[in-house]
Amino acid sequence: MTDLVVAGAGMAGLVAAAEAVSLGAEVVVHEKGDRPGGSFRLSSGVVWRYRELADFRAECPAGDAELQQLVHERLDDDLLWLEGLGAPVVERTTGNPRTVGLRLDPVAAIDALARRGGVLRLDEPLRELPGSAPVVLATGGFQADRELVREHVTHEADSLLLRATRWSSGDGLRLGCAAGASTTAGLAEFYGRAMPAPPARVEEHRFVELAQLYATHATVEGAGGETFEPRAWSEVDVVQWMARQPGARASYRVPVTKLQESVRGRTIGEMVVAAEVAGATVRRTSDEVVVEVVAGITTTLGGLAVDRSARAADGVWAAGADVGGISTGGYSSGLAAALVLGRIAARSALGAA
Ligand SMILES: Cc1cc2nc3c(=O)[nH]c(=O)nc-3n(C[C@H](O)[C@H](O)[C@H](O)COP(=O)(O)OP(=O)(O)OC[C@H]3O[C@@H](n4cnc5c(N)ncnc54)[C@H](O)[C@@H]3O)c2cc1C
Repeated sequence: MTDLVVAGAGMAGLVAAAEAVSLGAEVVVHEKGDRPGGSFRLSSGVVWRYRELADFRAECPAGDAELQQLVHERLDDDLLWLEGLGAPVVERTTGNPRTVGLRLDPVAAIDALARRGGVLRLDEPLRELPGSAPVVLATGGFQADRELVREHVTHEADSLLLRATRWSSGDGLRLGCAAGASTTAGLAEFYGRAMPAPPARVEEHRFVELAQLYATHATVEGAGGETFEPRAWSEVDVVQWMARQPGARASYRVPVTKLQESVRGRTIGEMVVAAEVAGATVRRTSDEVVVEVVAGITTTLGGLAVDRSARAADGVWAAGADVGGISTGGYSSGLAAALVLGRIAARSALGAA
């Protein structure tokens, strides 16, 4: 007999399954894709929190304060738990003095979790709620569904670059809402990166290395001529703005004097060359370099509303990017929220069953 059904074998779903199995449950994990890991597999693997809870509140002011506190308070223990399962740690710092956390090897962490997570059914999306067992929805948000993105995020949905797996297309949102769940504020918000614009080719294994992370050093001009002054260190504000410009595009004009400046371990000049080699239009004069970029959507930040037990509706719990309202108004680690809420969802679902 199945005690728990999990939809999605990304960070949140694999964690929920491993937690449930450790509590003695029989678990079935449905995965829409042909491999486990979801966007976690494509990620940099940095699982982090703000050093201070007050910073988390200030960075994501419209987010749910209770859920933010849960993530903040539980993350360190949950990372120890993950390490204990055999997830290898590559680095014990985030490189950002305002945050703490670990860099994991995503592929090895996925293998470690999948070994402990019950029966994994690849290429078998959950299409309807099972009814016979509690379910944890962990399908990774709705960024891959053009219509949902057009409805909630931007009319330029067709022009966005999908910087995530193609399978996270809002199934959790639809299933949860059909079961009576409500949605959070901030459905229009997403986390993403500026990426080399077409004709550049951006394959999924290059999502991390091709990110263009120097908006705060550039003059940012939308394809319609509007300019934008980025404020957020994460640059999530400029990417969301860009997503609403014609073609979801912008130009980054960078003075040549800034090309040697370093951002997260790479110089701006190196990032520009990477964009150019990938095929983006780059214009150089003696004073400046102009790079054509497009908004890349990584995860939607709005989604199902849950309580502190990760419950979304009767018999339905949710975790990861299917849960909205944690980073509303800013940015925090999606992997951290998936880890913490994934464990909570499994325990709550089994307790309620
Ligand atoms: C390039 C890149 C870099 C990133 N870097 C970081 C980082 O360093 N730190 C950080 O915190 N975050 C990072 N992220 C974001 C992070 O990967 C996500 O926040 C995280 O993976 C969300 O976890 P999840 O379990 O909700 O979704 P996912 O890990 O994406 O898993 C969702 C899974 O659900 C599956 N699915 C979808 N529909 C169904 C269905 N109907 N039935 C069954 N399965 C279904 C999908 O195929 C997928 O496997 C990055 C993402 C990318 C793409």
